[in-house]
Amino acid sequence: MQFFNHLEFDNHEHVSFFTCSQTGLKAIIAIHNTNLGPALGGCRMWDYKDDEQALHDVLRLSKGMTYKAALADIPMGGGKSVIIGDPKREKTPKMMESMGKAVQKLAGNYIIAEDVGTCVEDMNELSKATNYVTGVYQNNKGSGDPSPTTAYGVFLGLKPTVKHRLKKESLQGLTVSVQGLGHVGYYLCKYLHEEGVKLYVCDIDDERVDAVVHEFGAVALPFYEIYDVKADIFAPCALGGILNDETIKRLKVSIVAGAANNPLEAPHHGTMLSNHDILYAPDYVINSGGLIRVYHEYAANQGALFSEKNILDHVKKIPLKLETIFAYADQHGISTATAADALAEKIFKKRE
Ligand code: NAD
Repeated sequence: MQFFNHLEFDNHEHVSFFTCSQTGLKAIIAIHNTNLGPALGGCRMWDYKDDEQALHDVLRLSKGMTYKAALADIPMGGGKSVIIGDPKREKTPKMMESMGKAVQKLAGNYIIAEDVGTCVEDMNELSKATNYVTGVYQNNKGSGDPSPTTAYGVFLGLKPTVKHRLKKESLQGLTVSVQGLGHVGYYLCKYLHEEGVKLYVCDIDDERVDAVVHEFGAVALPFYEIYDVKADIFAPCALGGILNDETIKRLKVSIVAGAANNPLEAPHHGTMLSNHDILYAPDYVINSGGLIRVYHEYAANQGALFSEKNILDHVKKIPLKLETIFAYADQHGISTATAADALAEKIFKKRE
C-alpha cells in the first residue's frame, strides 16, 4: 500500500494506526492540518473491503474537515477517524472505549465526534477513556446528536442555492431526491416536507425508507434509480464518491446539495457538474452544521458559554457562505467546488 505517494495524501500532519486485540479495534486517525487549531472531526465505522479503502476514506475525510472548519469560521483543524468493521455486527461498548484510549494518546491534537456508523451512545462510551470527545449525551455535558443541526444547515443552505440557480425565493413545490435516510437524511426529509417539498427517497435499509414514506409522504425508489429521477435537487446524504463520470451523466436535476461528505469522486467532477449546468453546493460548506454544534460543545468544555442560540446563529451563516462561493465561482469562471477550496485555502494556509 502506498502512503506518502497515496493519491489522497495531502501533506497530512499525522496519521496513526491503532489496534486492540481484546476488543477487535482496528482504527486509523488522520490529522490533516492544525494551522487553525486542534483537529476536530467524526469517527466513521464501516465494513471497508480492505485497509487501502479505509486509508483512502480517512485521508479524504480529514482533509475535508480542514476546509470545513476554515469556511465555517471555526478555530479548529481538520481530522477524522475510521474504524474498520461492520457497525451492526462488530461494534461493542468495549471497542468504543478502546477507541477512546486511542484518541487520548493523541493528547488533544484530535477531538472525536460521531459520523456514519457511530452515534451518541458510542461517544458516551468513548468518554470513559478520553476527554477529547464531543457529541456525547446532553446529560453528560455534551451537545447530543449533531445530525439534526447538520440537516437544518443543509435545509437553510438550499435556499440561496435555489435562488441562485432557479431564481426562486422558496422551496415550496420543488422536488428533491434524497439518497440516504440515516441520521441526517431523515431530518432533512422532515424539514423539506414541512416546507412543502415533494420527496423521492432511497436507502439500502428498507426500514428507513418505510419511515420516511409513511411520515413525510415520500416516494420510494430503488437505490440504483436515484440518479435517474427528474427532480429540482439531488441531495446526497449517504456515502462519498457517488458522483462520478457515469452517475453525473444520468442526473436530471438543476442542483446537487446534500449532507454527504466527499460526494465528488474526484476534483474534476465539480467541473463536470457545472458543465452539465448543475449548481453544486460544496459539501463541506452546506453540511457544516454538525461541526458547528460539536465545536460549541468543545468550546464550552474549555470554559465558553454553551448556548443553543449561539449555535443557531452560527448555522444561519451557512447561506451567506454559499452566496459568497457562488459569486466567487461566477466571477472567476470556475466551478463552485474549486471556488470553495480556493476560499478555504486563503484562510488556513495564511497561518502556515
Ligand atoms: P448514517 O449512517 O446515519 O446514514 C447513512 C445512510 O445512508 C444509512 O441509512 C445507510 O443505509 C444509507 N446508505 C448507505 N449506502 C447507501 C446507498 N448506496 N444508497 C442509499 N443509501 C445508502 O449517516 P449520517 O450521520 O446520516 O451521515 C450521512 C452523510 O452525511 C455522511 O456522508 C456523513 O459523513 C455526512 N455528514 C454527517 C454529519 C452528521 O452530523 N451526522 C455531519 C456532516 C456530514
